[in-house]
Formats: sequence, C-alpha cells, structure tokens
Amino acid sequence: MKITKLFYILSFLMFFTSCEKEQFSDFPVTNKNALEKDSKYIPDTQNNSKVTIGSKVMMQAFYWDVPAGGTWWETVATKIPAWSNVGIDAIWLPPVSKAQNGPFSMGYDPFDYYDFGEYNQMGSTETRFGSKAELQSLISTAHANNISVIADIVINHNSGGDLESNIFTGTETYTNYIPASGLFNRTQYDFHPNDFHGNDSGAFGGFADLCHDKTYVQDWLWNNPNSVAKYYKEVMGFDGWRFDYVKGFEPWVVNNWINAVGGFSVGEYWDGNAATLEGWANSANSSAFDFACYYRMKDAFEGNDLTILETGDMLWKRSPTRAVTFVTNHDTDEIINGKLLAYAYILTHEGYPTLFYQDYEEYLDKDKLNNLVWIHNNKAGGSTSILYSDTDEYVAKRNGAPGLIVYINNSNSWLQRWVSTGWNNTLIKDYTGNSNWEPYTQSNGWVQIQVPPKSYSIWSAK
Ligand code: ZN
Ligand code: ZN
Ligand code: ZN
Repeated sequence: MKITKLFYILSFLMFFTSCEKEQFSDFPVTNKNALEKDSKYIPDTQNNSKVTIGSKVMMQAFYWDVPAGGTWWETVATKIPAWSNVGIDAIWLPPVSKAQNGPFSMGYDPFDYYDFGEYNQMGSTETRFGSKAELQSLISTAHANNISVIADIVINHNSGGDLESNIFTGTETYTNYIPASGLFNRTQYDFHPNDFHGNDSGAFGGFADLCHDKTYVQDWLWNNPNSVAKYYKEVMGFDGWRFDYVKGFEPWVVNNWINAVGGFSVGEYWDGNAATLEGWANSANSSAFDFACYYRMKDAFEGNDLTILETGDMLWKRSPTRAVTFVTNHDTDEIINGKLLAYAYILTHEGYPTLFYQDYEEYLDKDKLNNLVWIHNNKAGGSTSILYSDTDEYVAKRNGAPGLIVYINNSNSWLQRWVSTGWNNTLIKDYTGNSNWEPYTQSNGWVQIQVPPKSYSIWSAK
C-alpha cells in the first residue's frame, strides 16, 4: 500500500471508528442459516484448471480505486476471453472479502475473510467489486478460458473489530471480531501485543496486527479444513496467492500456507535490494515481486542511463523462476516516459512478467502490448546475455530456441549496431514491426540491426 493512501485510510478509519461503530453496532447479524450452509466444506469439483501459472504473462486485474458499486467482477469477466486469446495465463484480483470500509474498500482493510459480498455488514452486502455469485462466475469464466486466478491475501493486519478492554495494553482496542460469516472470530489474544509476545516489528500503521504465532490463528489461516487458504482454494477455486505486505510477518507464514494448500505464490516484499528479495523468496519458498528490477528500470529509463539495466542487481538475474516482474502496480506509477520500453524489457527478459490493467486497457497501445506478449510466449526462451549498453542504448539476447535479440533505444534518433547472434546465414526480422529491415546474418553470426527513436526492435529467425 502506498503511504499517502495509508494515511488517508487511517484518518478515515479514525474518524469513523467512533461514529460509524455506534451507527452500525446494532446492525443485525444477518442470516445465520445461510452462513451455516456456507461454512460447510464443499470442494469445488468444477475447478479443473490445469494451467501452470508463470509460463506466460500475468494480468493485474485492478488498479487503485476501480469504480465502486459492485460491478468490477463483471467488468473483469468481460475481458477474460480477449486476455486469454493474447496469451495471459493468470489474473491477480484485489482482496475479495468484506473489509471495514465496506462498499468503498479496495480490500486491504480485511474484516471477514469469508464474506465475498454475501452478508450485510460494514455498510453493504456486496463488496466494492460485487457479489459472491459474481466472483464465482468470474473465476469459472477464467478457468473455462485457461486462465488461473490469484487471490490477494492480506493477513498482516485486520480492521473493523469492535472495541474491547484489552488486558495486554490496559486500554480499549478494536480487537473484537465477530464476522457475520461466523468463521474466524478474533479477540485481543490474536493480535499484538498478547499473551504470546509483545508488538512485532511489522505492525502496519494503526491496524490490528494479527499474531501468526498463535495456533488458533494458524488453524484458521491455513490448517483447518475450512481455513482461509483451503476455503479459497477448494471452495472458491483460487489457483494462487499474492501475499500483501509480507514485511509484516515472518517468511515461514507463507511457506506454511504453501505447504498446506500448494499453488503459485508471490510476495509483496517492498524492497529494492535484490539480495534481500532473494533471501525472502528462498525462506518463504515463494516468488517475489521484483522491486529491484522495478527501481533499476526507473533509474534507467527516467534517469536516461540504460547501463543500469546491464549492471543493476535484480531478482530475476539471481533467481529467474522466483521473480515476478512489473512496470507499474496499484501502488506505484513512476516509470512514465519509458513505460512501453520498460514493458519491452520485462516481456523479453527472464522472470514472470505482469501487465497492469490500466496500462493495458487504457494508457498504452494495446496492439503493441499484445505483440510483446506474443513475443514473450513464443520467442523469449533460455538464459540471457547482455550484448551492449550505454546511456540510451541496450541490446540483450535470449539464448533459447528460437530465442531473440532485443534492442532498446531511449534516444531521439534511429540507431543501428552490429551484434553477434548465434544464427548463421539466417534471415532474421524484427517481430515488433518497428523496423522493416530483414537482414541475413553472416556465416559467423554477425548482423546489423536497427531501432527507431524512443522505441525497441526484437529480432529472431524469420
Ligand atoms: Zn500494498
Ligand atoms: Zn505484523
Ligand atoms: Zn505474534
């Protein structure tokens, strides 16, 4: 989460915790029959998804403050067939359950992990994004189109509990959680500080900080048959996990979750140090968002020094199968001028690349992104060799078969350069169409390639 957004949320919560709480405290806890039916453990036999997440391209299927009103799941569902056709293999959804800010929440202030827009609490029945039925329909549509669905898991903190007098703090705290689903009630014993230990280092703003050391919390998060992890996987049909704010708890939490239910996993460890990311990913047995790559790209494209792409330490260079690369997400949008060039970079290099919804659907040229996704899925195999870099030029080669050569130009003029390809006496072409040049490589593999200003070309055997 972005800090400015956090302060906004916090001040919003502080303002409302006093008045909103009173306003809604005698809201009836609705429909006990429905929740008893619902809390049963019913495996989703419809979930036949066989897609391997990570071989193609992920779509982050939301942005900060998508339209409220309960229509977002339907909006995403209408995009699924087209995304599937261009080669997306997974979508990442925002947190799907009811949060304190009810119909306005983006989901990062979780209250009831089992209310997917089904119970009237926190000011609405549906979540900001829609109803449980609409979410289930979206997941089914994705699976029918060979797209996996990644759940955003927010388990560092909770929000929206009732006041109780807290024996550990000697004050009144909002740590009494009685969700309408009837599942995973929580009290002061489940948050820091408690009888297990004091505050941990990972408290997030003023949110109630869940204690993952408590057996009760572990049971509800991943051990029980109807734990959050098992319910999301086996009843709702989620295929993978994006863990929010993993700096707020220990990596064994993610590791245990994966051991319990399996599935693709990526952690939001917000840190630009590639070695730190690698250490976390290994401890958690999970992929991590490549914030190191993100910050190196920002410096390279915004600071006009593409040598950083060659020299900069990034998670994908250390551990390509653990790196999820991205140009922008719902919290960050700092690569502005070279954004399409940055997409050309992540979609030709190692790591599992992510497209950001607004970049794809609104801001950038969709045909150019579709072309890059096709190149990623069809040409970008094997290890990486960096052939050349200077301040505004960068050339790299993927050594697989067929492999590719990507030429990025951040200058204002056409460039050309001799490169060593590995293809001998072979007709090659620029699969982006940005250059119409179709040269033959020499018998020793050398060839001259070219690239338009502020653009890129991507070469492979014709
Ligand atoms: Zn975040
Ligand atoms: Zn924490
Ligand atoms: Zn703890």
